[in-house]
Amino acid sequence: MAEKLIQNGTVVSLDPEVGDLEGADVLVDDGEIVEIGHGLTTSESDAAVIDATDHIVLPGFVDSHIHLAQTQVRGIAGDWSLMNEYFNHMLGNITGLYRAEDAYLGGLFGGLEKLYTGTTTVLDWSYPNSLEHGERAVDALRDAGLRAVYTYGPPGDDAAKWWFDSDVGLPEQHIRDLYDEKIRDDDLLSLGLGLRGPDFCVDETARGDLELARELGAVASIHMGAAQWPSSEYNPDYQGFGCLSDVLGPDVNVAHGNHFTQEDIQHAVDQGVSFSATPEVEMQMGHGIPVTGKVLEAGGRVAWGVDVCSSVSGDMTTQMRVGLQTQRMLANQPQLEAGEEVTELGLTARDTLEMATIEGARALGLDDEIGTLTPGKRADVVMVDAGDFMTAPAHDPVQTVVFEANPHHVDTVLVDGEVVKADGELLNPKREEEYDRFVASGRRLVEEAGLDL
Ligand SMILES: [Zn+2]
Repeated sequence: MAEKLIQNGTVVSLDPEVGDLEGADVLVDDGEIVEIGHGLTTSESDAAVIDATDHIVLPGFVDSHIHLAQTQVRGIAGDWSLMNEYFNHMLGNITGLYRAEDAYLGGLFGGLEKLYTGTTTVLDWSYPNSLEHGERAVDALRDAGLRAVYTYGPPGDDAAKWWFDSDVGLPEQHIRDLYDEKIRDDDLLSLGLGLRGPDFCVDETARGDLELARELGAVASIHMGAAQWPSSEYNPDYQGFGCLSDVLGPDVNVAHGNHFTQEDIQHAVDQGVSFSATPEVEMQMGHGIPVTGKVLEAGGRVAWGVDVCSSVSGDMTTQMRVGLQTQRMLANQPQLEAGEEVTELGLTARDTLEMATIEGARALGLDDEIGTLTPGKRADVVMVDAGDFMTAPAHDPVQTVVFEANPHHVDTVLVDGEVVKADGELLNPKREEEYDRFVASGRRLVEEAGLDL
């Protein structure tokens, strides 16, 4: 791959050693960031020069938790609660209707939405109904051109079997086959396992799945602590890590964790566990207060995620804003209730941007490769238009990205040094080629589910 020189931008590297630089250049060679500085030149005659004048240059966003396969049923779940409609309609009905091609089309268009909106890496939490579903979901990630942790979770064809006191482990042979066949040798893909916490399955199953993840070197992403189980069924283990308490580690990523106690969170943070907060969906569906504050209190930081893209949009900017402002509100309120004025905000725009980039990379075990603009890391780069009438004059590039820019201001996107969006347009022809099949897939799923929308 020829060199690329991103020239004369406002670089927000998020790397403390590199810092922020005005009128700076980023030199990319063979998919790697080789230099960041002023007045860089390229010696290669076929090098591509990308003009970043009036643009903010930053690392691509990392979405640490999303279910991309729900993309063609977007816009149906925005008024749903987790414990009623989501469990009944989505996990108990729609996911079972997915054919392998539906998994492909959801993943493809979800992936394209991600790239268009500046997210270059996702953890795609998948519930493949068969090995073929998993294969096509991985094909979608590759065809979209995303960097991804493909996360093999419990199949979506039988909620009772997989989600209610389940004693069935993840389909081990399928996971091994899929990993060997499509993931192991792919530079952009890695493997995750979608685990169920002890609130969803019996102890042996929860621990067995985690052991399998460890053996495969996979991120262990666990849905936990998102529900407040009825007191009649109360089991103290449901509210904490239960049988997983003594086997936690940095490869464990908790999605949600709203109902964990401060002690649980402290214990987990001390063991290196990462937390993915998906603030918009959690506040909508009744999960509870995002875990952000408790993780901060424990000395950690959360990674943001979109989660259920059938109810909210796939762009990370919204999650950065919603997550930040909610946490500020929660932090401000006790002072106000004590009769004091709020004169200082704890969490900053830069914090939330880091939670959408480097913290996500850390949660996915990819922080050596991505998450900041750093020489030696892979070139996952986003350029945001700071000269548009809605973003200019961009006094503070971090605040412009977090509070002012919308997905249409994402002008250029590189994944592993490849340009996937240029001048505001996706370059992938599959957006046009597969559009009709994508829409038809969504229509069939909603119709066959018999939803009265
Ligand atoms: Zn989820």
